[in-house]
Amino acid sequence: MSSSPQPPPPQPAGDGGAVATVAGVLLTATTVDAALAALAGAGAGALYGGLTLKSKVERLAWRGALGIVMSHPPGQEGFHGAAGRNVARVNLMRRAQFTVSAAKRLSQDISRGISTLQPVATALNAGLQRERRFYGQHLLAIWNRQKAGSQADSAAMTHGDLLGWHTVIDGRTSAECRQADGRNFYVGEMPKIGYPGMVHPHCRCWPGKPFRDGDLLDAY
Ligand SMILES: [Zn+2]
Repeated sequence: MSSSPQPPPPQPAGDGGAVATVAGVLLTATTVDAALAALAGAGAGALYGGLTLKSKVERLAWRGALGIVMSHPPGQEGFHGAAGRNVARVNLMRRAQFTVSAAKRLSQDISRGISTLQPVATALNAGLQRERRFYGQHLLAIWNRQKAGSQADSAAMTHGDLLGWHTVIDGRTSAECRQADGRNFYVGEMPKIGYPGMVHPHCRCWPGKPFRDGDLLDAY
């Protein structure tokens, strides 16, 4: 990877209801129009604080956010074991959180544009460009999680459901990975820090033979 890009801003709290609604829509809708219709049908008066589907600005914002997230689906894995299914759930929730946050940011962009007499298209396009960049970062993390999930499922086929957490110990090992090294986890119970290989970008941990008398990692 070249220079480290700006991480997307943290997801605001308190959007649980909207995120769950959007996750359901992302799971079933195949087009942006169908997703918008489903969101409107979900009828939440306020999907995200003041952000509803009622005004033209908000419809534009939701359409923009859904368009970005739905045009880059995470892709289907051929094989889904227990870890793959856990990872798919996490990825769906992350995509839904991103959609809600992006819709809110885009709505603010457009409103700010209108209040400064900027053409709506100009304000919207600048916002969409930024959101595509943010979502690119999410996609990298999504792919990383998928890869880690299928590695854990493959390891379980060799070693059984109880797996060991192995890592490379050197000056670059992160504290979390170092702490997990030598401990065990069940393939169907995702550790709180995730599966080996998805703790952070460039995570070099891998799932393998369980450790005799190894402590269990905390799981969800
Ligand atoms: Zn690691």
